[in-house]
Amino acid sequence: MTTTVETSPEQQAQYGVWPLDEHNQALLRSAHPDDWTNPTPQGRYNLVVLGAGTAGLVAAAGAAGLGAKVALVERRLMGGDCLNYGCVPSKALIRVARAVADIRRARELGVRLDGDPDVDFPAVMARMRALRARIAPHDSVQRFAELGIDVFLGDGRFAGPDTLTVEGQTLRFARACIATGARPVTPPIPGLADTGFLTNETVFSLTELPQRLAILGAGPIGCELAQTFVRFGAEVHLIDIADQVLGREDRDAAEIVHAALRQDGVSLLLGHGVARVERTADGKRLHFRDEDATTSLDVDELLVGVGRAPNVDGIGLEAAGVQFDKRVGVTVDDRLRTSNARIFAAGDVCSAYKFTHTADALARIVIQNALFFGRARASTLTVPWCTYTDPEVAHVGAYEHETREKGIATTIVRIEMNSVDRAILDGEEDGFVKILAGKRSGKILGATLVARHAGEMISEITALMARGGRLKDLSRTIHPYPTQAEVFKKAGDAHARTGLTPTVKKILSTILAWRR
Ligand SMILES: Cc1cc2nc3c(=O)[nH]c(=O)nc-3n(C[C@H](O)[C@H](O)[C@H](O)COP(=O)(O)OP(=O)(O)OC[C@H]3O[C@@H](n4cnc5c(N)ncnc54)[C@H](O)[C@@H]3O)c2cc1C
Repeated sequence: MTTTVETSPEQQAQYGVWPLDEHNQALLRSAHPDDWTNPTPQGRYNLVVLGAGTAGLVAAAGAAGLGAKVALVERRLMGGDCLNYGCVPSKALIRVARAVADIRRARELGVRLDGDPDVDFPAVMARMRALRARIAPHDSVQRFAELGIDVFLGDGRFAGPDTLTVEGQTLRFARACIATGARPVTPPIPGLADTGFLTNETVFSLTELPQRLAILGAGPIGCELAQTFVRFGAEVHLIDIADQVLGREDRDAAEIVHAALRQDGVSLLLGHGVARVERTADGKRLHFRDEDATTSLDVDELLVGVGRAPNVDGIGLEAAGVQFDKRVGVTVDDRLRTSNARIFAAGDVCSAYKFTHTADALARIVIQNALFFGRARASTLTVPWCTYTDPEVAHVGAYEHETREKGIATTIVRIEMNSVDRAILDGEEDGFVKILAGKRSGKILGATLVARHAGEMISEITALMARGGRLKDLSRTIHPYPTQAEVFKKAGDAHARTGLTPTVKKILSTILAWRR
């Protein structure tokens, strides 16, 4: 039996893809072609993958490449959050926002420009849609079918411990991988649902710039988009109940982002809870939870980015005997096995590290462990991450408070970006690197980097950490001059100087005197 999957324009809009211009039509042809016919399942699959975001795509392609018989099931858009409503569209917009900021600073660099840059928001969004459509074929139904994978479009759900149903067909499997990702959390604020709000699944469909935008949640998504929209010319209010932006990061790193957001003109309402939301004649009104509940804010649009919840509902986990927690996700062990030995999980649905590169890395572990008796462990991964504000904040390994809580004796080396020649020349002096290392071993335990290109630079520390590198290895690495990455060499040198105790200096002086 074959099933033809037909999608109407309304359904396509439901996927968060709007407007249906040539770019989005191209995206849909890759990510959810309306004339796609699901194949007929053939016997038992080595691996059935539920969800075709990064984790699902990597697991399916990797397994098929090794000769496994693979089925991949996707209910919305191939490429998942990253391609359609996450990394790809957000970074396309951030690129433009940076250009705007650079143009505004042109006078500082000695370039005369008349007036303020005029951002053509519809053109910016069209550029984003064009680039997203250009990247989409890599994740497309067609490409995965050509890899020999049976691609099923439709809502997948486990029907038992070794079967999954989709569009009326039953897929039998030896192993399965749950890769259903996560979705935006809706906070229980009275009036919110009725008033309507944007999330990451709809904000990239805007065709007009909201003049007044409130963003709820000052985490990575909130901070990135607040800076982007304010640079585009919107009045932006960034609201969080916490008293710090980027709550996961060290306060000294977060403070630099806070200052940058203010400099750009974002109004920061930290320590503010929203009591209720209501519709007004021309927009939305947020009432704050202050003592008298009198303060309010009128905006045109409200974007909610307060967190991500794993997609564990309605996928038949009970029938499959897979344990889960609605907040944390599918329960897995270090080898990514669920409570059903046939079923594994990867990506946002089971990981606290909700990043594309982690989804990719976990999917690779699933391939090894599910198909080849592998013993790869998630806990051995060295996972960096980055928030793409300007400046960026990148982190890998342990935070200062974690080493303190665990009682690990550490050396902390901190170098300011304003001591690095290239950062001075680039006019990108805001930021620092802070590296934590074992006091005795010198082994790098973690690092936070705040710099304009921190996301590009952090990989040097990640690579070093992954092979048990030490602070002194940073001095031994030759960095091209002048680059901002020299900040790492400076950190290594600063650490080396601490080894020059008075006794060592005395010995060295004696040797040098003897050699004169
Ligand atoms: C605005 C934003 C910006 C981001 N920026 C970055 C960034 O810069 N860098 C970074 O590393 N990460 C970023 N992320 C996070 C990143 O997008 C996710 O970590 C990544 O997409 C997780 O991949 P995944 O495969 O686990 O899940 P997803 O990408 O969510 O894919 C899961 C898929 O499963 C499908 N599915 C769910 N249930 C079913 C079902 N029953 N049947 C069939 N299919 C189903 C879904 O439709 C979806 O396509 C960002 C996220 C957001 C929201």
